[in-house]
Amino acid sequence: MLNVISILFGAMVGSFLNVCIFRLPKEESIIWPGSHCPHCNKPIKFYDNIPLISYLLLWGKCRHCKKPISSQYPLVEGITALSSLWLFMKFGPSLGYLFFFAFVAALIVITVIDLYHQIIPDVISLPGIGVGLIASLILPQITFFNSLIGVLLGGGSLFIVGTLYHWIFKREGMGGGDVKLLAMIGAFLGWKAVILTILLSSLIGSITGIIIMVLKGKDFKYAIPFGPFLSLGAVISLFYGEEIIRWYLYMNR
Ligand SMILES: [Zn+2]
Repeated sequence: MLNVISILFGAMVGSFLNVCIFRLPKEESIIWPGSHCPHCNKPIKFYDNIPLISYLLLWGKCRHCKKPISSQYPLVEGITALSSLWLFMKFGPSLGYLFFFAFVAALIVITVIDLYHQIIPDVISLPGIGVGLIASLILPQITFFNSLIGVLLGGGSLFIVGTLYHWIFKREGMGGGDVKLLAMIGAFLGWKAVILTILLSSLIGSITGIIIMVLKGKDFKYAIPFGPFLSLGAVISLFYGEEIIRWYLYMNR
């Protein structure tokens, strides 16, 4: 029963994340006005705004103008709902569940905005660093010291890499947004997860880059935003970090 509630809660939060994804890059208010169809501008009634269900009932089309509704809506709602369930099963009804769900929700917004606009909004990552640090004072999962080292290591390492890259190749490699994002990841997950996140995201990012180059024939200058890979690496670290580190130590004993 509680699992079902965590899914419904997740879908509702996902619906709000969609609003953030559309409005934050345009610096619009995320509270007012209510949802509108982007094609005909008609306000969307509450019964047409039920996460996942409305999209299915309307066959993915606006009730008024019949233009298609972006598949981003049900995708983000579905992924957020599943994240909520997954975290609930890991942490149970606890503060840890709420904090790490807020963390994953922030990563979902950052990922989609970075894919569309190649930016990571400071309005998410900077408060995120503060929330992570404060949460470490309360949460049993992480100490304040670990969180603080995570911020410094996360922000510092990417800053150094970015500066070196710029110095050697004379062009922008790592955006400042990535630096702040990894600092936020460090605040929530601690310094070990920062190292793991860098390794995982570089690995997955390189593989994806090679696949895109082979499929599209584009060279390295074709910039792929790094934020989604950092986010994915962080989520893997959150769920499987301890297992991966234990496995690594076991293999190298
Ligand atoms: Zn419409």
